[in-house]
Amino acid sequence: MPGKKNTAGGAPRQRKIATRLSHMGREPHENYGFVNPPLYRGSTILYPSVAALRSRDQKFTYGRRGTPTLLALEESISELEGGAHTVLTSSGLAACGVTLLSLVSSGGHVLMTDSVYQPVRKICAGILKRIGVETTFYDPRIGASIADLIRPETQLVYTEAPGSQTFEMQDLPAITDAAHAKDVPVVTDNTWGTPLFYNPLKLGADFVIHAGTKYFGGHSDVNLGSVTTTEAFATQLRQTHGDLGQCAGPEDAQLCLRGLRTLVIRLEHHEKAALEMADWFASRPEVARVLHPGRPDDPGHELWQRDFSGSSGLFSIVLNATSQDAVAAMLDGLELFGMGASWGGYESLALPFDPSRYRTATKWEAEGPCIRFFIGLEDLDDLKADLDAGFARLAAAS
Ligand SMILES: *Cc1c(COP(=O)(O)O)cnc(C)c1O
Repeated sequence: MPGKKNTAGGAPRQRKIATRLSHMGREPHENYGFVNPPLYRGSTILYPSVAALRSRDQKFTYGRRGTPTLLALEESISELEGGAHTVLTSSGLAACGVTLLSLVSSGGHVLMTDSVYQPVRKICAGILKRIGVETTFYDPRIGASIADLIRPETQLVYTEAPGSQTFEMQDLPAITDAAHAKDVPVVTDNTWGTPLFYNPLKLGADFVIHAGTKYFGGHSDVNLGSVTTTEAFATQLRQTHGDLGQCAGPEDAQLCLRGLRTLVIRLEHHEKAALEMADWFASRPEVARVLHPGRPDDPGHELWQRDFSGSSGLFSIVLNATSQDAVAAMLDGLELFGMGASWGGYESLALPFDPSRYRTATKWEAEGPCIRFFIGLEDLDDLKADLDAGFARLAAAS
């Protein structure tokens, strides 16, 4: 019943994002009126005839190569990011790997931000090195000076803003200008900003990666990644993705599609709650610095203000000098903050980390130990009380 499609309020792409999130990737009247699309599982997809098999002239040909469930999420992410094509992967890290492998070849060179999601460093030191691709890590705050590091054999510049764990901002337009002047494509991991707050393709990037595991899923029960690109790179990306046999699980894709429906209200809360908690940390005598580009005193604030329309729920703090045992005493007793990798769910998390262990292009100099916080959906007074008790344990153990 195409007549039932809701076209009120102008062309769909002109509507506000909250509206589009409620309507994208579903056609209720093609599914007996059910609000949500059905979950398609399956490997074998049947062809009606030898002629059809030979021509492969049907929309879906094999489960790994696509299902209506995967397509609905792909198209939704493409629309959110303003890209031509999206592929889904089994995890966010797989999305990083697929993107790198779709762009590099033996003898090539990669420019990688020193603030990158840490496991990506292993792809560089492992697979890329093995196939003869060299990686140069660069200072995330390099801006237009990235031009000085680009060589004739450079095949991509990889960015992530703000940086994983340490939250440095990157001047993406300056980097894309410099890279494009030498025909080098630019990749951005946009997991922190989400398409609601940051649109790297509009700022010149050619590839946008998401760990759908985080905010898209939103409930810590999904592993999924996505890569969105422009028309120019779509064939290249699709081919590498297909050759590697990458696909996402149908249930995970369905859960991400469902997560997108509530992304606006979840992110609104995460933003507000994280800023309030960051302020609270900044007022604590135990805290030397808060690393959150949404705060006016952050070195990346100006860039964030220029390029982002919001901030999300993840930030870090640097404590004043103290022992690791005191940090353990603080964190071990927390009742509401979980300790573990990943984030983007409804529950708050705390994770100690030490960038000096893995940085190579920049030297991490900090007053004391670092802790990354994710602020979930709990009541902030309860979270503060939990942390208050934590700081008392820290003081007692110092
Ligand atoms: C978590 C994360 C990833 C990896 O996602 P997984 O689904 O855990 O593999 C990639 N990039 C960033 C920025 C992340 O935070």
